Amino acid sequence: MTAAKKTHRITLIPGDGIGPEVSGAVVKILEAAGAATGVAFEWHPYDAGANAFEKTGEYIPKALYDSIEKNRVALKGPVTTPVGGGFASINVTLRKKFELFANFRPVKNLPGLKTKYPGLDLVIVRENMEDLYAGLEHEVVPGVVQALKIITEKGSTRIAKFAFDYARKHGRKKIHAIHKANIMKLSDGLFLRCCQTVGKDFPEVAYHEHIVDNTCMQLVMNPYQYDILLTENLYGDILSDLCSAFVGGLGLVPGANLGTECAIFEAVHGSAPDIAGKDMANPTALLQSAVLMLHHIDEPATAERVQAGLEQVYREGKTLTKDVGGTSGTKAFADAVVAAMEAPLAAA
Ligand code: ATP
Repeated sequence: MTAAKKTHRITLIPGDGIGPEVSGAVVKILEAAGAATGVAFEWHPYDAGANAFEKTGEYIPKALYDSIEKNRVALKGPVTTPVGGGFASINVTLRKKFELFANFRPVKNLPGLKTKYPGLDLVIVRENMEDLYAGLEHEVVPGVVQALKIITEKGSTRIAKFAFDYARKHGRKKIHAIHKANIMKLSDGLFLRCCQTVGKDFPEVAYHEHIVDNTCMQLVMNPYQYDILLTENLYGDILSDLCSAFVGGLGLVPGANLGTECAIFEAVHGSAPDIAGKDMANPTALLQSAVLMLHHIDEPATAERVQAGLEQVYREGKTLTKDVGGTSGTKAFADAVVAAMEAPLAAA
């Protein structure tokens, strides 16, 4: 007999593009895993971005802000950000509003998937609120535009502390702070000084510094040399997409936006308009984000059940999406994960 259910209230932002497809798949899998492990979810769904604006006249409706504030946990699909104009990024706005200062992105191979770098297991810890993402741009005179890169001692120290704490807690051995302090001597220089200062309290974690352009080359030559990449906001964004390619692409890599009060879990990828509405998107990245969320809300058994089902599907390799060499659609993949979780040997 399953024990009485514990209910978690979770704000759900399906997003747009492939968002509704991948979040639909993830909700289905979580419902099945929860039913088997005595955990129930009360989903509170909200639109954001262009969809929300059409319905409510606001890009981020007040009700969505209130919901995250109350539930303190959100699962978020991608929301399209207009390029070169239009409204401000919903992702960035939410991160700032809830002070989600740490962006945590584990890059790890799934079993059965052939990649160039088998057994890779590294983590990107990206500062999530400062840098060029402060969105401070203005036209100085016609034809000259300035964008301000904001780096603070508080923000840099906070993200460095997060990375070192994580390393200590999880037995990670090495942190590389990524920078361009040879050119941006003041801003990236400050970031490095904060990382060095924090690192002094963690003698068991080896601390290194690599320049960002060299890091790109080093990553492609030998990503195994890295354990945790500690980055400012923009470098972290770019390196995340690069690193996702090592383990099979953007369809796979999850992310968590963490603050002291709230957390929003979302994949590294964007809304992928090129494959939206075609039942082609890989929901693995959002599903693995949901696994991070399940650990965050202290439901490890449910998290492990989902992860075991997911890994079983990859191990079998029969029901994979096109981006990782399969021929199945989003829905069939989700059904396969549910079936794998329910198979008696799934967790073996
Ligand atoms: P953003 O800047 O908003 O993060 P992006 O410019 O990185 O977005 P994406 O929308 O992530 O772009 O898409 C980049 C490429 O990766 C596209 O070809 C897209 O189809 C593919 N892609 C992204 N996510 C997935 C997914 N979940 N499944 C399959 N392919 C994906």
